[in-house]
Amino acid sequence: MRGNFLKEGSSGNLRAIQYRTDQYGYFKGFGHPAPDAKSPSADVVETTFMGLPVKMHRKVVPALACAEVEIRRSCADHPYTPHALAGIRYRNTYRGGEVTNHAYGIAIDIDPGQNSCCGCVKPWNEAPACTRPAKTEYDRMAMPECWVHAFERFGFYWLGHDRLRDTMHFEFLGDPDKIVSSPAR
Ligand SMILES: [Zn+2]
Repeated sequence: MRGNFLKEGSSGNLRAIQYRTDQYGYFKGFGHPAPDAKSPSADVVETTFMGLPVKMHRKVVPALACAEVEIRRSCADHPYTPHALAGIRYRNTYRGGEVTNHAYGIAIDIDPGQNSCCGCVKPWNEAPACTRPAKTEYDRMAMPECWVHAFERFGFYWLGHDRLRDTMHFEFLGDPDKIVSSPAR
């Protein structure tokens, strides 16, 4: 988790980068690649989530499918239809030596316009949802809280818990080698 490895300073960040390099591929300029290492984009596939296309690393696609099944099963009381997704990103959007999990294809953003990032730079932190009174971060987004718990069941970390308060963003922090199968869809 970002909040944990950043506490350890640069060594925590470097270990987090190396773990992802070994698991998901070499994002150029970061970490030490194996001699035969491919870029994460070489293992990206187009999948769907809640009916929308999104490009993700193939290793996390079964976990994403499980999150969708769980949302359809457990969040029916909180209807929500996403209209925009973002998966793999080919450039790094973090500064200070950190690498976004989007670069590894293991992060997904859901409706960035409706689920903002109140701890991010402009214009994200200027969204009306960031200034209105709210008891918790869940109250600052359009996506139902139920979705967060559904994602969490399958190894995705919600960056709304982080100091960035990035409520649109989930990233797979489970061990991809422990995913055994994809559900029937
Ligand atoms: Zn994101």
